[in-house]
Amino acid sequence: MKKPPFCPSSICPHHHSPPKGVKWFRRAGTYETDTFGTVQRFKCLTCGKGFSVQTFSLNYFAKKIVNYHQLVLMLKSASGIRDMGRDLRVSTGTIQNRLSRLSRQAIALHETITQSIALAEDLAADGFQSFAVSQYFPDNITTLVGKDSQYVYHFNYVTIRRNGRMTETQKQRREELEQLFLADRGGIEHAFYELAKVMGDLFFRSPKASLTLYTDEKKEYPRALKRIPLFADMAREGRFIHSTVSSHHARVPGGPLFSVDYIEREFRKDLSNHVRETVQFSRNVNDGIGRLFIYNLYHNCKKSYRINKAQWAETSHADVAGASRKVVDREFATIYSRRRFLSRLEISVNSFRVWLRQLETPLKKRGEYLPAYAMM
Ligand SMILES: [Zn+2]
Repeated sequence: MKKPPFCPSSICPHHHSPPKGVKWFRRAGTYETDTFGTVQRFKCLTCGKGFSVQTFSLNYFAKKIVNYHQLVLMLKSASGIRDMGRDLRVSTGTIQNRLSRLSRQAIALHETITQSIALAEDLAADGFQSFAVSQYFPDNITTLVGKDSQYVYHFNYVTIRRNGRMTETQKQRREELEQLFLADRGGIEHAFYELAKVMGDLFFRSPKASLTLYTDEKKEYPRALKRIPLFADMAREGRFIHSTVSSHHARVPGGPLFSVDYIEREFRKDLSNHVRETVQFSRNVNDGIGRLFIYNLYHNCKKSYRINKAQWAETSHADVAGASRKVVDREFATIYSRRRFLSRLEISVNSFRVWLRQLETPLKKRGEYLPAYAMM
C-alpha cells in the first residue's frame, strides 16, 4: 500500500472521500512486526491522526495470520470452533476473534451488495424458531427472501417466550427464569416491523409499481405492516398486496412460500450443527447471528441458484436478484484483506446492532466484549 485509501478518523473530512491530487497525509516512519514485517506509518495532515498500513487490514491488531478462506469453508461445512482451532493450529479464542472479524465483513458486504439491487421481484417472509441458551428461551429468526431469486434481503433475531405444552414443573421453571430474563411479548411483531422497514427501503429504490408480500397467517404480520404508512397507503391504492397462505399447505417449488422454506432449511442445517457441535450459538446470540451473516453472504453470492430438484443454474442468488456483478466482485476481492469501517457504511438498524454486539443473550451475566477497533 503506497497510499492510504482514506483517513481512519471518523470525524476527519478525509474519512469518507479524501481529496484527489492533493497531498492530505505524510509518511511517518515504519515499525517492525514479527508477523507482518516492516509496516509503513502515516499521519493525516488535516486532523493529525497517526495510522499505518495495518489500520486498513482485516488483521488489524492481530498477532497471527489465520487463513480466512479456509475458516469460511470450515464454517460452511459446519465445523465446530474446536475443530477449526485444531485444524488451523490456533486457540479457540483466536478462532472466535477471526470469526467476529469475518462477521463484520459479511455485514458490510451484505449491506453494500443489497443496496446495489433495484428490487424486481415479489417477496416472501417467514419466521422460524430455534433455541438460545435453553429451551426456555426459544428464538425467532425472521427472514425476507426474494420469491424468485431466493436472495435473502434481510433477517433478524428475537428471543421469544416459551409457549406450548408444558408440565407444571416446566411452567414453574419458566417463571423462575423469567425473573432473570423476560422476553419481549411483542417480539414477533417488532421483528416483523423491522423487516417491513427494510422492505420499504428496498421498494423505495425499486422501479416496481406494485409489490406482493407472501407470508403465512401469523396475526402479528398485518399488525406490523399497518404501522408503516407507506404500505398502508400503497395497500389502499391496490399497489401493495399482503397475500397469506396457511402454514400447513404443501411447500413445493414454485409455491408462494417455497423460497422462505428453502432458506429456513439452509439456515437450520447451519444452526443446528453449531448448536450440536460447539454450543456456541446457544451461548451467545451475537456470535450466532454474526456467523449467520457469514453463511448468508455465501448463500446469496456464491451458491448456485436452484432451478428445481435436480438443476442448478450457473448464476448466484444475487445475480438473479439483480445485484451488480461489479459491486459483488469488487467487494469479494478484498473481503479477506481490507477491513470495513462501520463509520463508512450505511447499514440497517439490525445490522448495526449485530455489528456492535447489542443483542441480548438470555441469562448472560458478563457484558459483551467488543474491541475498540470494531467500533470505528
Ligand atoms: Zn484525518
